[in-house]
Amino acid sequence: MGSKALIFGKYIELKSVGCNHDDVSGGPIPASVNLFVKITNGCNAHCRFCSNAGHKSAIYFNADKLIEVVKEIESNHILINRINITGGEPSMVPDIVIDLLDRFSANSFNDIHIHLNTNGLLPASQQLMKHHRWDSISVSLHHYDRNKLEEIYQTKLTDNTLNFDGIDMNIINVSCNLIKGYIDKTREAHKMMDFCIDKGITRLGFVGLMPSNQYCKDRFVSLDELNLTTIPRCYFTESKNRGKNCRCSNYLYNKDLKILEIYMRHYINAMYCESSLLYDGEYLRQGFNDNNIIY
Ligand code: SF4
Repeated sequence: MGSKALIFGKYIELKSVGCNHDDVSGGPIPASVNLFVKITNGCNAHCRFCSNAGHKSAIYFNADKLIEVVKEIESNHILINRINITGGEPSMVPDIVIDLLDRFSANSFNDIHIHLNTNGLLPASQQLMKHHRWDSISVSLHHYDRNKLEEIYQTKLTDNTLNFDGIDMNIINVSCNLIKGYIDKTREAHKMMDFCIDKGITRLGFVGLMPSNQYCKDRFVSLDELNLTTIPRCYFTESKNRGKNCRCSNYLYNKDLKILEIYMRHYINAMYCESSLLYDGEYLRQGFNDNNIIY
């Protein structure tokens, strides 16, 4: 869905239609890509819905090649929407992440939006989240209760896990998977929303599990089951982004005006994210398939 461009002698898909595009309103956006950087597949946690669970960190990451990739994209006048540093858990390899951020600065990639995905559980992740270069950070936090989090992550947490001390909460959003037995109904969603307000978090996403294994199928909870508008002072805001590709629903929760923005991801067009590029430390691919190596 969109235009193509040539990098490293191969055509790649560009994202050129915004999620607010439909036949009636909205329109094309400047052709661009999102670049995901899988900095490690290692993770300290063992979430049963995740393919990275408990992996050891890979020791190899070719940062020179990533810089080359970014320069190649830019020299072909392709806009990079954002670079997502993701894993596994990036704070398993903090030195590699910091080195990368330094390289971005040294190469004057200052206009590129840099985003971190983290589970925020380790002291190292809390430390990493304090780095000044992040434009935004997604923290995967699937419950408000530490004991439940230990069950979900199947790992021991420290007393400081949910403190967020010294972290700029304005750039944080929390991503909460809906899992049967955990956040799975209106009452639990309400508690999660209150927890976020108390922590100074301003954006919360509820995400349905993808059916990637039996645990996900058994524990699946539909976004529709949350019925957020039955929660006092929670309002459906009819997202500006609703169009033919996306039916994300958005809400505002006003707990005594410390306003929490809530989003629920729901893509209509499964190909919508196919234009993303993924660099795994060795190869650049398009989409999230193994067989599509660009460089
Ligand atoms: S914390 Fe994230 S990367 Fe780690 S096992 Fe859980 S879902 Fe997977």
